[in-house]
Amino acid sequence: MHLDNHLIEEILPNFYKLEIPLPRNPLKATNSYLIKASERNLMIDTGMNRKECMNAMQECLGELGVDLRKTDFFITHLHADHLGLVSNLKTETSVIYFNQPDSDRIKSITRWDDMIHFTLMNGFPENELHSVFNEHPGYKYGSRGDLSFKILKEGDIINIEDYTFECIETPGHSMGHMCLYEPYKKVLVAGDHILSDITPTIQLRSDGENPLKEYLASLDKVNELDVDLVLPGHRSIFRNCKERIQELKHHHERRTDEILSILEKGSQNAYQVASQMNWDIPYDSWDLFPLVQKWFATGEAMAHLKYLEDNEMVRRELKEQKIVFFLSGK
Ligand SMILES: [Zn+2]
Repeated sequence: MHLDNHLIEEILPNFYKLEIPLPRNPLKATNSYLIKASERNLMIDTGMNRKECMNAMQECLGELGVDLRKTDFFITHLHADHLGLVSNLKTETSVIYFNQPDSDRIKSITRWDDMIHFTLMNGFPENELHSVFNEHPGYKYGSRGDLSFKILKEGDIINIEDYTFECIETPGHSMGHMCLYEPYKKVLVAGDHILSDITPTIQLRSDGENPLKEYLASLDKVNELDVDLVLPGHRSIFRNCKERIQELKHHHERRTDEILSILEKGSQNAYQVASQMNWDIPYDSWDLFPLVQKWFATGEAMAHLKYLEDNEMVRRELKEQKIVFFLSGK
């Protein structure tokens, strides 16, 4: 098929990558994937619930001649850049495949309040909170209305034309994150589990979880698969899956080392730790970070501190209702 649209790339027969732009967002774009079939099409991830995404999506679907009434959806995880637009794309006949943990989270009415309370306990300043939610993509551009999902689990299969997709649970980036693996073509639809040009963020938002531990285990799990081609949720598709997995593991080892050396100076909360870490974003100092970036940085520091705590390398104490961490043995 000849395609004029620069947003569309045919990766395999009847299998397309749609680049859905995310203006003013450091991710730049979400990769949505579409498998065209004679019976029902399958779209994997959608982009955010915002006009620019909908316009690009409609352009792509028009070019490919896709009928949404004959289209089902698979969503890798709950974040707005993957799930957000599905509420506008789904039709009465659409099935939306999703996972249980992320479904539970978006259906929890106390989700944002719980997250805010926990992040405040980790030192995030209350006076910086209001602006976070003016800019938070999940809050601004999430899906709207009640979505009903068909829940998939590890090992479940979606058959579509010449493709057989196996569900691989890969918790970490979100607690229910799920990849699709095509064992005959050795293709991994990776969502945000493994990206090539950027590092997936690992965030802690509730004390009962250890997302970094889960994430590292999910990397090891995917490392066992025979993968030729990785189709990630952002940026370029790539082939060196195992090499990238090793790089991501090293990245998190360096991060935990960095945090241990920050805690050498004495006990600190997660926000203070985050303010001293090196972040790969174009601002000269922590004070210049947009507040929403401080929010994400704090979540990432929290995930690492939790991991270190479970490994008995750091400990916590409660000081005036705030959690502070210190090195074990100090
Ligand atoms: Zn994403």
